[in-house]
Amino acid sequence: MEFKVIAEYFDKLEKISSRLQLTALLADLLSKTDKSVIDKVVYIIQGKLWPDFLGYPELGIGEKFLIKAISIATNTEEKEVESAFKIIGDLGEVARRLKSKQQSSSILGFLGSSKAESLKVDEVYSTLSKIALTIGEGSRDLKIRLLAGLLRKADPLEAKFLVRFVEGRLRVGIGDATVLDALALSFGGGQASSEIIERAYNLRADLGNIAKILAERGIEELKTLKPEPGIPIRPMLAERLSDPEEILKKVGGKALVDYKYDGERAQIHKKGDKIYIFSRRLENITSQYPDVIDYINSYIEGNDFIIEGEIVAVDPDSGEMRPFQELMHRKRKSDIHEAIKEYPVNVFLFDLMYYDNTDYTVKPLEIRRKMLESIVKPNDKIKIAHHIITDNVDTLMTFFYQAISEGAEGVMVKSINKDSIYQAGARGWLWIKFKRDYQSEMADTVDLVVVGAFYGKGKRGGKLSSLLMAAYNPATDTFESVCKVASGFSDEQLDELQKKLLEIKRETKHPRVNSKMIPDIWVEPVYVAEIMGAEITLSPLHTCCQDMIVRGAGLSVRFPRFIRWRDDKSPEDATTTNEILEMYNKQIKKKTDTSSSTENI
Ligand code: ATP
Repeated sequence: MEFKVIAEYFDKLEKISSRLQLTALLADLLSKTDKSVIDKVVYIIQGKLWPDFLGYPELGIGEKFLIKAISIATNTEEKEVESAFKIIGDLGEVARRLKSKQQSSSILGFLGSSKAESLKVDEVYSTLSKIALTIGEGSRDLKIRLLAGLLRKADPLEAKFLVRFVEGRLRVGIGDATVLDALALSFGGGQASSEIIERAYNLRADLGNIAKILAERGIEELKTLKPEPGIPIRPMLAERLSDPEEILKKVGGKALVDYKYDGERAQIHKKGDKIYIFSRRLENITSQYPDVIDYINSYIEGNDFIIEGEIVAVDPDSGEMRPFQELMHRKRKSDIHEAIKEYPVNVFLFDLMYYDNTDYTVKPLEIRRKMLESIVKPNDKIKIAHHIITDNVDTLMTFFYQAISEGAEGVMVKSINKDSIYQAGARGWLWIKFKRDYQSEMADTVDLVVVGAFYGKGKRGGKLSSLLMAAYNPATDTFESVCKVASGFSDEQLDELQKKLLEIKRETKHPRVNSKMIPDIWVEPVYVAEIMGAEITLSPLHTCCQDMIVRGAGLSVRFPRFIRWRDDKSPEDATTTNEILEMYNKQIKKKTDTSSSTENI
């Protein structure tokens, strides 16, 4: 397959403005793609060479070396490339123009033939992989040479997108859900197959792998797909409620109640003698936890399994649980062995999804838990999450306060009904989180996506200092604006913000963003921040749940305040518009309940 086909589609994708067109174009590209390279094409579309969970290196070519490669490939002085870059501001476009100039002055160009030999997807992919995997002494020169070789063979449009890819700027705004929809359109025979494809992707969060199976073996094959150790499962997520009685009712009366630990979620895979640990965001964090690997090897039985738990920092002297921030300190340390000593961790296991060729995601919680208990030799490093089974509100509350006093955030109340499967990739009522109440009407913080930014005034003049934040609507795969947040940033965070935002600046609104408010700059929807506010209110300025409560108004967070970045969440993991609606409805109910009880007094 020729790389030119992909470049031409990227060129078209850049110019469209709606999610629907995006999916249709993508479906068109995928149906024209050779089955043998469809996995690679899917990764390239997402601006990567392989799924993040593999933890392989990135290309490692900075701007300076990219300029060098363009200069070699187009026989242009480096200075000339640099000054063109200063004027145009986009290296991809610079490469395109230089290639066109070169082409029109060459004899081949004169004869009307663009180039002797066309670039194939396989060649592009294998050369780029080689560039990424070349490390150590002398690797820089080799990387530049390899890239220059590719660019030399590329036509102007191919060069533009190759350069953008290497820069990590090939963000044509395509999320996983868009690719899934496009796959359903091109191979699954339409929307009816969406559910099957989505289920497969939830069990194996590797879009390339799913695309390849679908293209080569068809939709039937996906129906029976099992999890595969080494490929992360999309995590099961919890709903939230703050009334214990309601919580027990919602899960069917009787529940398994776990401590809700304040650490890092870890999905632990064992495949023969290999162990992998994936984060909440499914990134490969194996190398950060050699101590956890030792615990798994020593205290868990089995050859192939996928289990889940929370890694929690503990006090090295007392063994008591420490807050999540301590784990962050550990991550910042460059010497991992020192970090292990200074910030030791415990692992609290709470689920088992796969064991020796058996898919446990389809089995009820109690069976999963029993199996987990049977393979773990608990000790002071690794154990099963502290839990009870109860149908009594008072018992639940006592356990909740005990959890908080021991440093947990609250409890996770889990259904033990016969249908209490592991709902990969879904947020549902089978798990309900019950956290300590905050000093505000809002029962919890929200995690929102930055979609634009505004310049400040006065002391903050000239600096981007407030952010337009959006919630995720999975039904439409779009980001709907919720609030403008201007407080809560430290000076340091504000400084860092400038660079962070300008790197992802866009000329126009992203096709997946839905906003009435027009910020000073639009950005790619990539960063997620945790936001606290006073309450959820109706607002005509925002599009979240637009018209759902009152015509002309959406929902917004009042007095929003930045708490911290949530780098462990992808934009699609942000709080959903539906959750905001639920939070709003809960508030209304609470207000009505309180006012009627005061009336009685
Ligand atoms: P979410 O993961 O629901 O999107 P979040 O990342 O903001 O939200 P929380 O609101 O803190 O996280 O609640 C869910 C998280 O709680 C899980 O992702 C997991 O990391 C953590 N957790 C701690 N203890 C448990 C437990 N016993 N069972 C399940 N999850 C637990």
